[in-house]
Amino acid sequence: MPFDINGIRIPTIQRDNVAIRCRGCGEVIDGAPFRVNVMDITSVEIPPSWSGPTTLNPGPFQLHADPACARRWMRERGNLFCRKSAIRELMRPIVVPGETPRWGLCDGFHHDDHELVPA
Ligand SMILES: [Zn+2]
Ligand SMILES: [Zn+2]
Repeated sequence: MPFDINGIRIPTIQRDNVAIRCRGCGEVIDGAPFRVNVMDITSVEIPPSWSGPTTLNPGPFQLHADPACARRWMRERGNLFCRKSAIRELMRPIVVPGETPRWGLCDGFHHDDHELVPA
């Protein structure tokens, strides 16, 4: 509610009412979103023929703090998920060889081979 100081009308600061929607399920996020960033692609070896559409958007992506939402977000991007990793705020992109270039996402916390599975 507005109030006056010495006759000057001071509007109260409006709460930011723009709803944040989850990139996974599309529902409004109530409270603090879980933010996922994809690590800088330049730190990953990329075959030079890959360009344009395979470029990864580094984010941040705002999601519910629910692994199901993060998995759904990856699935809709066509990403694979390394099942030895967890959903963390910083995910590392992994080149998935094949006729159609794909990306896997891993938290990079394990040191053995990735096990990429459909998210
Ligand atoms: Zn969600
Ligand atoms: Zn991995």
